[in-house]
Amino acid sequence: MNKLPFITKEQVENIVKEYPTPFHIYDEKGIRENVKALKDAFSWNKGYKEYFAVKANPNPHLISILNEYGCGCDCSSLTELMLSKAMGITGSNVMFSSNTTPAEEFKFAAEMGATINLDDFTHIQFLEDTIGYIPETISCRYNPGGVFEVCNGIMDNPGDAKYGFTPAQLREGFAILKEKGVKNFGIHAFLASNVVANEYYPMLARVLFELAVSLKEELGVHIAFINLSGGIGIPYRPEQEKCDIKTIGEGVRKVYEEVLVPAGMDDVAIYTELGRFMMGPYGGLVTTAIHEKHTHKEYIGCDACAVNLMRPAMYGAYHHITVLGKENAPCDHKYDVTGSLCENNDKFAIDRMLPAIEKGDRLFIHDTGAHGYAMGYNYNGKLKSAELLLKEDGSVQLIRRAETPRDYYATLDCFDIYNKMNF
Ligand SMILES: *Cc1c(COP(=O)(O)O)cnc(C)c1O
Repeated sequence: MNKLPFITKEQVENIVKEYPTPFHIYDEKGIRENVKALKDAFSWNKGYKEYFAVKANPNPHLISILNEYGCGCDCSSLTELMLSKAMGITGSNVMFSSNTTPAEEFKFAAEMGATINLDDFTHIQFLEDTIGYIPETISCRYNPGGVFEVCNGIMDNPGDAKYGFTPAQLREGFAILKEKGVKNFGIHAFLASNVVANEYYPMLARVLFELAVSLKEELGVHIAFINLSGGIGIPYRPEQEKCDIKTIGEGVRKVYEEVLVPAGMDDVAIYTELGRFMMGPYGGLVTTAIHEKHTHKEYIGCDACAVNLMRPAMYGAYHHITVLGKENAPCDHKYDVTGSLCENNDKFAIDRMLPAIEKGDRLFIHDTGAHGYAMGYNYNGKLKSAELLLKEDGSVQLIRRAETPRDYYATLDCFDIYNKMNF
């Protein structure tokens, strides 16, 4: 299958006149169509809500688009909570799913009325000691242990994951929370990541729905919501087929009707905390080939590096690359496509078959809308790129400027850096 970018070479050549490469660019039309389809797929559930996982892409311009469709924010840190508050997204529109949580973050989350999702049994006491009370609505993160296998063999390993309560801790935790006056309980679990299979959510839903029924029956607690969290994957590789969100929504509905409705629990709201699925495919990293190197291998050197997109270096993740303007040219050259870090793993692709690349060619690195810019760092003193939004009318809006040396050195004011560097 030919995996094509959402912009053409001609558009990019126009954009670079104003905004030099590298930059991440996002597709407003794609983001909107996808969030509409998600809402539609879960419209059967009255309380359904998507809390966008802010960590996947903390750009307020993009999150505001999702917020137009009723999406809230799933935050995991102080700065994510602050960003959410600055966008006017507060109260029950915020899910605080953190772990190893510092006290001040619980305080801030409680002050803005966020729904707190506890990661650990000991956090019940820690939260009460920190904020002085236990909120009436609270969620706990569940970890069943073992391995979690989806039909087509995709597995993850909850037993190895640092997150969540064990089954026994969850029962005891709910009993304690009920004692402490909690009225509305939520159950959250994130058992597998980037699963490109329509079966994942329905399977996870069954585990959580059955658990919810048993907790309600044993403890008489009111389960108000079940949070299926993130994990729906995207097809990074051209041969992968994308998930069908309508099928996923219907799959969850079927389990809901089979498990929750007969138990008299037809008022349970379904929540999701999707990150990758909401943004991943609707972002691309545009970079220029600035060098070619012929040694033991053939290298193309780009003006972007792992600082702009860390997933290949960090996980060996595949990101598809299109040489703009050469979409239909034969892929008859084998390259390592590299960045400039003094790290041999700074390669966007290894032994990748691509059309012949010349200096000045623009490369579109696909699927950088989630965990792309967001994971960036400043190793080697490299600066983070700009972010642009390709609007529905074809115009381009700068939604985050590129970093400058001044930004990079900002924390060295104790060295009187501004005067010494003569910016
Ligand atoms: C990362 C994360 C998500 C989002 O995961 P995706 O795979 O991007 O959908 C949701 N919830 C929590 C708690 C997370 O840590």
